[in-house]
Amino acid sequence: MSATQVDIKALESQHVLQTYKRQPVVFERGSGMHLFDDQGRKYLDFLSGIGVVSLGHAHPALAKAIGDQAATLVHTSNLYFHPLQGDLAARLSALTGIERAFFCNSGTEAIEACLKFARRYWYTKGETTRTKYVAFKYSFHGRTMGSLSVTSDEHYRGPFQPLIPGVSFADASDPASVAALVDDTTAAVIVEPVQGEGGVRPIPPATIQAIKDACAKYGTLLIADEVQTGCGRTGQFLGSQTFGLTPDLVALGKALGGGIPIGAAMVAGRIAETIFPGDHGTTYGGNLLACRAALVFLDELDQTLAANVREMSPHLFAGLRALAAKYPVITDVRGVGLLAGLDFSKDPAPVVAAALERGLLVNRTSNTVIRLLPPFIVSKRDVDEAMGILDAAIGSAGL
Ligand code: PLP
Repeated sequence: MSATQVDIKALESQHVLQTYKRQPVVFERGSGMHLFDDQGRKYLDFLSGIGVVSLGHAHPALAKAIGDQAATLVHTSNLYFHPLQGDLAARLSALTGIERAFFCNSGTEAIEACLKFARRYWYTKGETTRTKYVAFKYSFHGRTMGSLSVTSDEHYRGPFQPLIPGVSFADASDPASVAALVDDTTAAVIVEPVQGEGGVRPIPPATIQAIKDACAKYGTLLIADEVQTGCGRTGQFLGSQTFGLTPDLVALGKALGGGIPIGAAMVAGRIAETIFPGDHGTTYGGNLLACRAALVFLDELDQTLAANVREMSPHLFAGLRALAAKYPVITDVRGVGLLAGLDFSKDPAPVVAAALERGLLVNRTSNTVIRLLPPFIVSKRDVDEAMGILDAAIGSAGL
């Protein structure tokens, strides 16, 4: 370990709140699919900063745009107009089919906004008993009090009770559980089309139908959490489009800014009409730097990357299925587009460590799942290289 690494780790352990167990590596720069550590070692990035660095690292067009924007105007607050927010909102509206955007700085903020807007809709309509939410087992929506309240994992929830009341959790593998929980007191159902942190679990078609039926029956609003599945990750702009859901509210984040923090709550017109100045707000949300980054991301997605996600996905899943055929410890291959999970019968943490040693970044989620979230620029060669490293890592992990 170098002197700098010791200093960095000592400083962090003394002064940074210890909410993360970090992997033993210090990254100093990136380029495309690769990261480089402080020893100059190169790593193939199949995690993209947890689904964020959609254009890869140090993308030239993004770097230039944010450099230019930084030298022009970064932030003015939401008290004034600026030239980029309306443009970005219009483009997101065209891509999602949902009329309006509220900009914020993260996925969890986009979820908070959706939860509030759903409540505000019913309040404005005079249905003040419509305050409940139905979420799902294995859901993850963020760490703030509202988003945590609709997150199912007891490990995250337990220490922070009481959370907001009136939240119940359906079981995505049991469509009848949706019908059993939704009624005329349910403000909104909230669902990730593929539960990412919960173990890369696509919502089964029968449950998609049950959600649509229950929302139609009671007029309940549907919130799609597309923080991980949105912005092209599933092969279409929204996972909802891939899975046949028609949400009233959509939370976006992660990939949207290519690494510059930005989130968005997309709000259907009839809900937007029930929301008024002062109902919600943010100091930073949708500032010029973040909007400029998101506009570059949308340009790149449109020009080449949406097609690349669709082209690379079958190659990635073929590689993962070949690994599953080779190693009985892999019990399932799940996912869609460039969101993939390998489920193991044992804790695969040693595989993550062995992959890191061999120069590949992936992560473990939901105790038994290795998740892959490569940048949208990934090539067949990158996929082949990653599969080779994973093969060696699984082989050496001794599971
Ligand atoms: N929703 C989903 C589906 C997520 O995967 C995440 C983060 O992993 C969040 C919400 C929270 O987003 P953020 O960490 O940007 O606040």
